[in-house]
Amino acid sequence: MRAAVLRGPRDIRVEMVDTPPIREDEVLVKVMACGICGTDLHAYKKGGGAGGAGRLILGHEFSGEAARIGAAIEGVKEGDRVVGTGYRGCGACYRCRQGDAARCPRPLVPGEGLDGAFAEYVVVPRPMVGRTFFRIPDGMGWEEAATMEPLAVACHAAARGRIQEGQTVAVIGAGMIGQCIAQVARSMGARTIVSEPSPLRLAVAGRLGAEITINPGGTDPVSAVTAATSGDMADAVFECSGSPAGFRQAVDMVRPFGTMVQVGLFEKGLEIPADLASMIFAFKNLTLRGSGGQRWEMALELAGSGRVKTGGLVTQVFPLDRIRDGFESQLDPGSSIKGLITP
Ligand SMILES: [Zn+2]
Ligand SMILES: [Zn+2]
Repeated sequence: MRAAVLRGPRDIRVEMVDTPPIREDEVLVKVMACGICGTDLHAYKKGGGAGGAGRLILGHEFSGEAARIGAAIEGVKEGDRVVGTGYRGCGACYRCRQGDAARCPRPLVPGEGLDGAFAEYVVVPRPMVGRTFFRIPDGMGWEEAATMEPLAVACHAAARGRIQEGQTVAVIGAGMIGQCIAQVARSMGARTIVSEPSPLRLAVAGRLGAEITINPGGTDPVSAVTAATSGDMADAVFECSGSPAGFRQAVDMVRPFGTMVQVGLFEKGLEIPADLASMIFAFKNLTLRGSGGQRWEMALELAGSGRVKTGGLVTQVFPLDRIRDGFESQLDPGSSIKGLITP
């Protein structure tokens, strides 16, 4: 089969590789679309994934058709349109060595430790049908289905924010995940404020329901939130930019006893000077929460019912042969939100 192999920094090539065999607890999926994730971009720039050297096929945000089903798998049949993921224990950590692979803190997943879905086929290890692996709802196309993984990430993050109806929620950074969080928060009855320097991303956020959109290039986001809330500030802030400046803004935007959810991955170290630490812990009594995880069922329910719309977030689609162009274009936040690759 054809697969895009990462060979070095910004060096990705389409090569012929063996179509993988499957074990009895695996499903082989014929890939129909696969999104380029922020983590894929990190690996692309670095020339390797978290796991280090070796052949690397990225891509975990896929939709496709079940092509072969392992004997131990129930609930899926050949030809089903599917979306989701699977996890295999790393085999090396304490949990795995104790024979408790289900609790492995760093499981291998397609695109991270296992071959991913920028290829004609991908192997999904241990799919849990109805929990991490689903039939695509009728009427949902391949491209929209490939956005269910980032939406599932956003659903988990939004849930971590403990949003109540009528609250004000601020989102810093309107890439794919920030856009999805804003929509999920809105579906929970919150009014949403989005801060984002890319005019394209900001316009899309506004079109998809953000009540207030702020370009930090021209407006101070903290003042804008102060004005929009008559000084009460936001009940919850989602920091999706992964920048130290965004982290600071999030602390300044959230109300006392409010919740701050860190979503963005940091590329640079985060320094927390004394005044910021005192603000977080003493003066504002903040709850800082992490956000790693996925809520697939919630994502499929919100998208399937039309309450969250991810179709408009797909800004470009490239065939596998042009994957390099796909990655390069997604590195430009001025012209892209989510890029997809189709085999
Ligand atoms: Zn992703
Ligand atoms: Zn492990």
